[in-house]
Amino acid sequence: MIFTVAIDGPAAAGKGTISRAVAARFGFRHLDTGLLYRAVGAIGGDPVAAARGLRVEDLERGDLRTLAAGQAASRVAVIPEVRAALVEFQRRFARSEGGAVLDGRDIGTVICPGAEVKLYVTASAEVRAHRRWLELGGDEAQVLAEVKERDARDMGRADAPLRAATDAVMIDTSEMGIDEAVEAACNMVAGRLAAI
Ligand code: C5P
Repeated sequence: MIFTVAIDGPAAAGKGTISRAVAARFGFRHLDTGLLYRAVGAIGGDPVAAARGLRVEDLERGDLRTLAAGQAASRVAVIPEVRAALVEFQRRFARSEGGAVLDGRDIGTVICPGAEVKLYVTASAEVRAHRRWLELGGDEAQVLAEVKERDARDMGRADAPLRAATDAVMIDTSEMGIDEAVEAACNMVAGRLAAI
């Protein structure tokens, strides 16, 4: 069975948690596509060369989860040649046998516009910054400034900007517990699976 779940949204909205839970519940594979851009940023040097030569081992680096790696990722992610180099890998993953969940910024709009399920997971910048701060520590005002800076870059870039696909279902996690958000996502997937 080929079945793609596309989950997009800004940083720290809960996409990762929801994606992992959906994948575990339905036995689908999961790809956190942010890791591709984080790895390209972390490798350094020419980002286009890094994207073209990206290997699976690069996604296992220990330094990809920091705030700095997120900022570096969003800077290389504006480069059209970097994005182009990563498209095929993501599409192949999405259409691999057995079902796949991909989370990122442009999955429902560019990578998999035909995905069987499209979700857009969001929350206010303040709530997202607070979550990041609980996870990574530091100065909360600075974390909020970085979240806003990254949102602006991701939403404002010319190539594949962050936005909800017109047919995506919104899940706002500002005031929703993560269990509730996971249930909403799983219900969507179960409903779509039952219809095929
Ligand atoms: O999701 P994560 O915070 O790991 O993503 C890091 C950065 O990678 C994002 O801020 C965004 O600039 C970029 N990205 C992207 N397209 C994706 C996934 C991530 O441009 N599909």
